[in-house]
Order: sequence, then C-alpha cells, then structure tokens
Amino acid sequence: MSKYWSKLVASVEPYVPGEQPKDRNYVKLNTNENPYPPSTQVLEAIKATANESLKLYPDPNGEELKRTLANYCGLKKEQIFFGNGSDEVLAFAFMAFFDPEVPVLFPDITYSFYPVYANLFKIDYELIPLKDDFTLPVEQFFKPNGGIIFPNPNAPTGEYITVEAIEEILHHNQDHVVIVDEAYVDFGGESAQSLIDQYPNLLVVQTFSKSRSLAGLRVGFALGQEELIQGLERIKNSINSYTLDRLALAGAVEAIKDEAYFQATRNKIIRTRERVSDELGKMGFKVIPSKTNFIFISHPTVKAEELFLKLKEEAILVRYFKQPRIDNYLRVSIGSDIEMDRFLEAVRKITAG
Ligand code: PMP
Repeated sequence: MSKYWSKLVASVEPYVPGEQPKDRNYVKLNTNENPYPPSTQVLEAIKATANESLKLYPDPNGEELKRTLANYCGLKKEQIFFGNGSDEVLAFAFMAFFDPEVPVLFPDITYSFYPVYANLFKIDYELIPLKDDFTLPVEQFFKPNGGIIFPNPNAPTGEYITVEAIEEILHHNQDHVVIVDEAYVDFGGESAQSLIDQYPNLLVVQTFSKSRSLAGLRVGFALGQEELIQGLERIKNSINSYTLDRLALAGAVEAIKDEAYFQATRNKIIRTRERVSDELGKMGFKVIPSKTNFIFISHPTVKAEELFLKLKEEAILVRYFKQPRIDNYLRVSIGSDIEMDRFLEAVRKITAG
C-alpha cells in the first residue's frame, strides 16, 4: 500500500504469471509456450524490419496484417481486431462488452485472468462450477446474465466443448456478448469462427503465443461481426492506438503465411501429447483428455505439490495451482520429445519412491 496509490490501484488483485526463473537451465513446461522456434520466415521478416523504419510509428490499424489474416480465415478485415497478446484483447473485450450491474458468467476452474479483469473494471461475475469430470456444464450458461466468457478448450483442464454446444449457448444469450477464448484451439479443438456470420453476439479470441511459437512477440486477435470489432477499436483508441509495434506486425504476417511450418509444429506437439499421455496413463496417472498443448494430470499416491517440488529439484518446471478441486493436479506443457522424455524419466523416478 502506498499513500500515492489511487483507489483503483489499491483495489486491484493482479494476475501472477507463471514463474520464469533464471537460476538454472530448466526444462520449462509451466507456461504453455511452444517448444519449437518461430518459423525462419518470421525471424527474417523481423530482422528486415529492425531498421530505420523504427523511428516511425507503426500502422495503428495493422492493415496488412488484417488483410493477411482475413484472407487466411475467410473473413473481412473489418471483422478482425489485433492486440498486444490475447490478454490485451480480452481486457479490452471486458471493457467493451460487459457492464457492472449483471454478472458475467465464467467457469470456476478457468483462466485466472478473468476475475482479475472483472475486479479491475468493477464487473460483477458468477462462477459456474465445472462438472465432476471437468467438462463445461453447457446448460448452466443458459440463465439470465450480463455476458459470458470461457476458454475452449478450457485452461488449465484441457477439456473442450463442441461448436454445437457453443451455438446453444449463443442461442440462449442473444442479448449479451459471448467470448470464446480459443488460445489453444489449434491443438485439436474446433473453432467457433464458423458461427460468426450467424451470431452478432459472438467474439472469438485467439493468439499467436501458442501454436505459432510467438509468445514473446505479443500478438493476439479477435474475430467477430463489425459492430463488436468497432467496440474493441473504440476502447483501444481510448488507451493506446499503437498496441502492435512494427516488428510484431511484420512477424505476424509471415507467421500466417508459413502455413507448412505451423502445421508441422502443431502436429508434432499433438503427437507428443498423445504419447506422453499414454505413458503417464501406464504409470497410473489420471490424465484429463486434452485438446491443447498441455496436459492436466494427477497421481493416485504422490501429491501434486510434492511432485511439483521434486520436479523442480530436477530442473523441470511445471504448473501447480493451490486451488480447491485442482490442488492434486499438475498442468504440464507439452515440450519437445527430448524435454518430455526427461520429464517422464524424472516422474518415473519420483513416483517409484
Ligand atoms: N487465454 C488463455 C486461456 C490462456 O491460457 C492464455 C495464456 N496464458 C491467454 C489467453 C493469453 O495469451 P497471450 O496473451 O499470450 O495471447
């Protein structure tokens, strides 16, 4: 607390990002980053942009990037909004579409940034408990509310719901915006993008951080009908018109263009996920079926916190959430095959006693 703080800053409850320790060379499986480097096409574009042009502001509308993505996903560029990572897009969306009076609904085990935004913007929210098997109770979202947000697939559980189920939620909530956070959709989920033309209340949010190996470049985007996109643009231009710098704009264009690299790396991650899930299953772990680049696992006898600490001693970082219902689970990002073999070997050793 400081006497200089505004009431606002004194009242916020900030998000705590996953740790990024530098004391050793860790196998880093704790923040769902992609183990593979960005495409060389992306790196070359960034290098080629790191020149005198940096003295000038970037294009505030990211026209070329929007055109490239519009072309890629078959939408109009007016149906696309870009932000500095999808976290920023989500923050803007909370401001643009949710009001304080009626609660926004989101799952009780989900991305921990949602309650942070709700508190920051003084938006009331109601938590919808996941079912016992960690799937989303779709019908619970049919009640009166002031908007809805959920990740699909969900984080940190990795479970997903079908596009048909999302359509039911949209159908029952036509007066409010439904945000589907698809940060992990490229690892086997199905995008709700196909519903955009039919549902003016749908906003789909995606990111380049996971499936395009660009967590460090900070590029996220939203897809929706023009009136929603204009709402986001109004918020953005009330805060900072240049949320994407020249390097990010240039790199992101090439990330979309290098489709072959995108397909190859995400398929590799999916294959590794399935292999590691099988191995852990054989070791007696409960492995929640995942459509993401992470798995959510629990051991029958070794407590998750103990496993987390022992893995850290072995220089392997995973994510442990000290939170009701999931405090005996670990979230493990899918690394390269070599990294995951190290992880499996350490787990074998620790769980054997
Ligand atoms: N949504 C979910 C569900 C996430 O797990 C993350 C990553 N932590 C994000 C959004 C934000 O990703 P980024 O800001 O890197 O695009």
